[in-house]
Amino acid sequence: MLEWNDLQNACHQCTRCGLCETRHNVVFGVGNQNADILFVGEGPGEQEDLQGEPFVGPAGKLLDAMLCIIDLDRHENCYIANIVKCRPPGNRDPLELEQDACIDFLRNQVALIKPRIIVCLGRIAAQRLIDPEYRITRQHGQWVQKNGIWLTAIYHPSALLRDEWKRPETFRDLLSIREKLRE
Ligand code: SF4
Repeated sequence: MLEWNDLQNACHQCTRCGLCETRHNVVFGVGNQNADILFVGEGPGEQEDLQGEPFVGPAGKLLDAMLCIIDLDRHENCYIANIVKCRPPGNRDPLELEQDACIDFLRNQVALIKPRIIVCLGRIAAQRLIDPEYRITRQHGQWVQKNGIWLTAIYHPSALLRDEWKRPETFRDLLSIREKLRE
């Protein structure tokens, strides 16, 4: 396991998969390195790739508003990362081999942060971290425990931008996350 500086350097120099060829920036993660709660998306989008920070486009603004509802702030009391650290071209889903190549960086981040709770943002992260057969429409908001960490998934903020009808369900999921944080 690497410490933060070495991990970040290794990630920024990484050429383990083909996504290194088209990235502008590696998007390592942002937040409090001692947070109780870690949010994990699938991978950087265009704005994230350009700015080097996760969730900074329109979906990121919505995520910040969602965090605010449950008294969280990316610069204070949570951490945000992705399954893959470089942007899949055209915002396609990250391939399994790209996820396999990158997942050790996230594992190392989890080992350093030691979160009590991990929230998957969307289907890809949930299928990687909770269950390969995870169905986000049916299972969002449910809790499972793995290796002493509570995991759940909510809709990806991009999905909430496309479909506002999903927002009431997500509001309930957010309240459930706040309850779990208070336990
Ligand atoms: S996506 Fe991950 S494994 Fe692939 S080049 Fe970027 S940092 Fe390395």
